[in-house]
Parts: sequence; structure tokens; C-alpha cells
Amino acid sequence: MRHFILFATALFTTPVFAQQAQEVALAKSVLNTLQPASIRQNREYCGYIGVDATGALVATRARRGNTDSCLADEPPQDLNIIASYHTHAGFEPDFDSEVPSLDDMLADRDEGIDGYVATPGGRLWFVDTLKMQARELCALDCLTSDPDFSPGVFGKVRSSYTEKQLSRREEMEPS
Ligand SMILES: [Zn+2]
Repeated sequence: MRHFILFATALFTTPVFAQQAQEVALAKSVLNTLQPASIRQNREYCGYIGVDATGALVATRARRGNTDSCLADEPPQDLNIIASYHTHAGFEPDFDSEVPSLDDMLADRDEGIDGYVATPGGRLWFVDTLKMQARELCALDCLTSDPDFSPGVFGKVRSSYTEKQLSRREEMEPS
């Protein structure tokens, strides 16, 4: 069913229509609520967004993960999952956390869902696994950001990345 929804979405050329707009609004609000704790504790928080048995768009309760990973709780059986969501913890000069990771994109694809990612700089990303493209929905300081955040550590952040571009960006990271 979730594949059908994603496929139906692709048939429309309008970039944002009702369902997607609601989904973005929910993701933004959930992630923004999690940002302060995620940044303060330097831990990722994650969960899912889906449609429940009554047809309502809902987010599952966030699970706290580690500094650079988070495994969401198994969602309820009757929830039709549309997307994952997660924060990227606090600012760390050694982590290129202002963009979704290649693993983020591949994990969403493997689950057959899209994804939403919040960064320490307060960016909001949408991981579109139909196009295999991550798009910045909202730039720096759009969400609550880490006061210690320093931009430009890993170079310029583009407004979108394909799978190949994310892979290339990760290869270029200083080690
Ligand atoms: Zn991530």
C-alpha cells in the first residue's frame, strides 16, 4: 500500500500537494520539538510518520539514539508508514551532519519510505527515495539550531543531493 501511495504521488507534476504539505508540516513540528534535547544531549532522535487506521497523519513517539545513529521502534502494525524522521544531534566539527548521510537515504529506500532529517544548523531535509534525491526544504536556522554551530566546516551545502553526490561528498570528508 505504501508503494502505491508513493507511486501515485509521482504521477502528479505539482511539487507540493495537500498530503505532502501536511506531511512536511508534521515533520517540521515534530523535529523542531526534538531539536533542543537532541542538541543538548548530543543524541539523535528518530521515529516514523504514517497514516493510522482512522486515516490520520501521525508521527510515532521518538526514540533516543546515539550521537551518530538511531534505530526507531517498530511502528504499530496498523500504521501505514510514509516516512522516517530523525535529528542529527548537536554540532560536532568532525561530523558532516548538515546533510542527510548516504546511509540515511539507503535505509529509507530499503524500507520503501521517504525521510525527514533535522541538522544541528537547523536545516530541514526531505529524502525522496523515489527520485533518490535529498532536498533541503528549509535552510539554516529554520529549525532550532545548536548555538555552537559553525557553518562551512565541510564546505558549501547544496540545496539538493543525488545518491551519487552524497557518496562523493562523504568520500571528500577529511579523516
Ligand atoms: Zn542521518
